[in-house]
Amino acid sequence: MTGPLRVVLASRNAGKLAELQRLLPGLDLVGLDPAFEPGPETEATFEGNALAKAREACAHTGLPAVADDSGLAVDALNGMPGVLSARWAGRHGDDVANLQLLLAQTTDVPDDRRGAGFVCAAAYALPDGRAHVVRGELRGVLTRAPRGTNGFGYDPVLEVDGRTAAEMAPEEKDAVSHRGQALRLLAPLLLDALRS
Ligand code: IMP
Repeated sequence: MTGPLRVVLASRNAGKLAELQRLLPGLDLVGLDPAFEPGPETEATFEGNALAKAREACAHTGLPAVADDSGLAVDALNGMPGVLSARWAGRHGDDVANLQLLLAQTTDVPDDRRGAGFVCAAAYALPDGRAHVVRGELRGVLTRAPRGTNGFGYDPVLEVDGRTAAEMAPEEKDAVSHRGQALRLLAPLLLDALRS
């Protein structure tokens, strides 16, 4: 008898690994080996980056791979910060500087044009060359000041139905989030692909 199918998640984020494991209980999910240095994210779209990361992890490990790429798209900024979300203020991963810069840039944007959304592309790549990518989106409104202490990144400045993502409990955010939506769409497609 064969064991559960092993799939590598092209991320070192323990939270993403745990979320994907909840969505794919039949699989043996593993993270990327710590010695592996992924290449830079150079694509112009979330989908392009997610596919590139999945293909890279698949080529490196020889295993089916899953990857995601996400960010905040602000309507008044023509979809930016977009794929540059993590390094909008210059230094990768400086969440407070990123959201302060974004709020400063949008001070003059009126309330009726403050639409924005978190976007997530999730992709799988298989050793035989097959690959697929899907998208999830959480639409809301850009606030004028940060609110809430949960979450990370731009959570305190995206308001959905009266609360920012940082004012939601983690399970509440999981249930509606861009990442949750994309991974829930991808999970059955990956299982089908692995079985055929
Ligand atoms: P990545 O998908 O890990 O590359 O994330 C890109 C960046 O987008 C993060 O550093 C955050 O700034 C932002 N981002 C992605 N998802 C979220 C979210 O759920 N909440 C807040 N910020 C997010």
